[in-house]
Amino acid sequence: MYFHYYGQLLHQQNMLQDYVRTGTYYAAVIENRVDFQGRVVVDVGAGSGILSLFAAQAGAKHVYAVEASEMSEYAQRLVAGNPSLGQRITVIKGKIEEVELPEKADILISEPMGTLLVNERMLETYVIARDRFLVPDGKMFPSLGRIHLAPFSDEYLYVEIANKALFWQQHNYYGVDLTPLHGSAFQGYFSQPVVDAFDPRLLISPPVIHTLDFTCMKEEELYEIDIPLNFVSSAGTRVHGLACWFDVLFNGSSVQRWLTTAPGAPTTHWYQLRCVLAQPIYVMAGQEITGRFHLVSHSAQSYTIYLTMSAKMWGAGADQGGILQTSSCKLDLKEPYYRLSQPQPYTLQQEQQSHQQLLQSQDISPQMQDGPGPNIAVIPSHIPESLDP
Ligand code: SAH
Repeated sequence: MYFHYYGQLLHQQNMLQDYVRTGTYYAAVIENRVDFQGRVVVDVGAGSGILSLFAAQAGAKHVYAVEASEMSEYAQRLVAGNPSLGQRITVIKGKIEEVELPEKADILISEPMGTLLVNERMLETYVIARDRFLVPDGKMFPSLGRIHLAPFSDEYLYVEIANKALFWQQHNYYGVDLTPLHGSAFQGYFSQPVVDAFDPRLLISPPVIHTLDFTCMKEEELYEIDIPLNFVSSAGTRVHGLACWFDVLFNGSSVQRWLTTAPGAPTTHWYQLRCVLAQPIYVMAGQEITGRFHLVSHSAQSYTIYLTMSAKMWGAGADQGGILQTSSCKLDLKEPYYRLSQPQPYTLQQEQQSHQQLLQSQDISPQMQDGPGPNIAVIPSHIPESLDP
């Protein structure tokens, strides 16, 4: 199923048309020619072969483009159709875990990130590629990833999800009382993490950051990821859950570049992820929120998310030790709710700029414009200061 998906050109196109993603990879490679010039490169999960072609553009001596899906046939054709670069690229069909390569790599390049960084469990493949093919002290593009977690308040989102279960409140649905299933339906909707782009002003605290160092972490460290949560609320509000996003670092010898999926930064095809609590918690400004974000991998190439968030009750009784309000939920990262019909936050300036660039570069009329719109050619060069600790 997984490789069938990536074997289709439309899904590769979707990634290629995420210009924040592909543009950042391009910039990171081209700005760091020194890391590629005359070097042996392995492209881990090459897909269409685009990153191999970038590495060849940056002067790689040879690139091994390893791809398990049928996409390898298309990559072969793309490479053959770009002979000045393609003569230094060998496409190999197979799984990273199983293929043999004639030589070791000086540098690995890959795009193994899924929703919340870890979905699809391809980071394990990236780490296996490191152990199988990379020379000691070789480079990895990207070399590390960070998961950012911050509490948010979003009454509209909460009500929208809770309302989905209202259907099961009917006492007379063709003469049948549906209410015995309302509780299960309600829980079911809250077990879906929400994928969309949200306004960063919904966050009520700076994020907790969990770093995964791809250059030295063990594969097993990805089976279970346990992140303690500790925040101080900036407002008196209702906390509806935990917002999550990630970034990865290209630690080049010339230029360090981050690819970020943060709220408020140009939107990517990953968007952001929010885990919504079925039972929100109340906080005062300056109050501490604690908890745990626990990811447990499962065999469907994804994770079960166990989230707990707590805050001390305030008001009467608080000075006698404080009663804890705790809210927990279990979500399946494999079954997100794609809430993309909502308006996406982006600035007018950005849209005008991208619109002009699109018209200039493709010579098409506005009516024909399609695709990701606000993302065109907008390359983030840093993490927004407000979100960088
Ligand atoms: N590098 C391309 C594609 C990224 S998507 C780009 O940046 O546009 C990830 C690709 O890795 C998919 O095409 C998928 O089929 C491939 N892949 C995932 N796991 C793999 C594995 N274990 N071995 C080889 N290829 C794998």
